[in-house]
Formats: sequence, structure tokens, C-alpha cells
Amino acid sequence: PDGLAKGKPLKTSVHWQDIGGLDAVIEELKEAIVWPLLCHDEFVRLGIKPPRGVLLYGPPGTGKTMLARAAATEVSANFISVAIPDLVKGEVGESEKALAAIFENAARCPSIVFLDEIEAIFGSREQSGEVGKKLITQLFLEMDNIPEDANVVILAATNAPHLMDSSILRSGRLDKMIHIPRPDYSSRLDILTRATQHLSIENASGLLPRLAETEMSGAEIKSLVRCACYSAIQRGTKVLCEQDFDVALATASTIDQFHQRAVA
Ligand code: ATP
Repeated sequence: PDGLAKGKPLKTSVHWQDIGGLDAVIEELKEAIVWPLLCHDEFVRLGIKPPRGVLLYGPPGTGKTMLARAAATEVSANFISVAIPDLVKGEVGESEKALAAIFENAARCPSIVFLDEIEAIFGSREQSGEVGKKLITQLFLEMDNIPEDANVVILAATNAPHLMDSSILRSGRLDKMIHIPRPDYSSRLDILTRATQHLSIENASGLLPRLAETEMSGAEIKSLVRCACYSAIQRGTKVLCEQDFDVALATASTIDQFHQRAVA
């Protein structure tokens, strides 16, 4: 079925410079993924074995998907995104077939296969029994069978590394792990600055540092900026001011309280 997992090759348009506060991570990813894909022959000639896969782990909304997309843009590779929970929900037989087709597609040209919420495949061992077990076997088979010289790199993401089975971290599978933390003050300011660079904001140099004091993830910062833009549109102006961000912060905290009530 269509919803099984997207798995279709895409060209991405996210760039490293869109990502705030993760400079050290970007450098690590360049070394682990970009160089081996761009200088493939050099690596083969020198006999250097780059990681086949990298696990990005950290809290939600911190830029893991964005990093994977930017890496694909950087190397002009196809970006093949696979939502593992969707695969796990599929039927026995169908899900493994879908996974095999994804890897077959990936091998045709330089590709980054992005396995999102990879922990779901292990969480599923007891819950969805057969599908989970077969998918794990299939995934390992696919990873282990990628030819040494293929231009395919796997990036996986998880918010719950503790649910992962160490068998996936074996050499030739996800051989490298990179932690993506919640942004600290200077990272929040960096994300805010990049997210607002095309906007006109009254007294931005005073306002942005004040906003960055609020603890937020990258996703929350982007949604704050979006809300502030709506508020400015409602006021009938193109220049955002402090009031728009106050409205946005109030809206965000109302949504948060609503969410907490819903969860409770
Ligand atoms: P999840 O674990 O919930 O899937 P994630 O870590 O993959 O989240 P993304 O999907 O990459 O997070 O981020 C969601 C949105 O938040 C992005 O589309 C982007 O707009 C924004 N965002 C998150 N982190 C950053 C960042 N460091 N710099 C710029 N934007 C960011």
C-alpha cells in the first residue's frame, strides 16, 4: 500500500547553511558521509573503509531529518526516506518486499537511505511479532549485502537509542553514532537568526537574544517564527515586532498546556 513507507527517491533542497547550532555535527557528517561519497575512488585507492551507516540520536525536533536531507543535497544523492513504524505496521511478506525494493532502488545511483524512527523495528519484536522479526532479518540482510563499492550510505534516526538492539551497531551496519542534542542558548540564537534572516524585524538585535533565552527545540523555534509571522499578517504589516513574538510565545505555551492536559 502507498502508506507503507515513502521509500521513493527524492532530490532534496535543504542546505547545511539552513541548519543552526550544529556546526560540529555537520563537520562529523561531512567526514563520515560526504567525503566518502564525493571522493569514492580516492577512498577505495587508499583502502579506507568509511562507515556504511550513521545513527543520529537525540530528542525530537532537533534537526536529525534536516541533517540527513542536507547531506543528500551536498553530495547530489537521492534521498530515500523510510518511516520504519509504517513498515512495521505492514503485512508479513509485504513489508520485507518493500524494504528490499528500497535497497534495490538505492543501489542504482548514489543514495542516502534515511531510516527514521529506527527503534520501532526493535520495539516491535514482542508487539507485532512476525513482521518485526522478519523485518529485522531483512534489514540486516540488505545492509550486509550492499556491495563494498556501492555509493549507498544509510542514515538512521532515533529519539530512543535505549530501545535499540546493539546488533544494528555492528561494523558494516550503523558503525557510527552521533548525538544531536537539544540546542543550548547560542545554538538557539543561531537557529533563530537563520530562521528570521529574510524577515524584517523591529529591533532584531535586542529581541532575538531575549527570545533565545527560552528553552526550545529547533522545531519549536521554527514554529514560533511561523506564529509570529501570522500575527504580523493579522496586524496588516510586513515588519514583525516584539508583540508578534509575545503572541507566538503565548500561543506556544497554550498549545503546550493543552498537550500536557491531553497526555495526562
Ligand atoms: P523527530 O525526531 O521528531 O523526527 P528531527 O530531529 O528529525 O525530529 P527535524 O524533522 O529535522 O527534527 O526538524 C523539524 C523541523 O525543525 C525542521 O524542518 C526545521 O524546520 C526545524 N529544525 C530543527 N532543528 C533545527 C536546526 N538545528 N536548525 C534549523 N532548523 C531546525
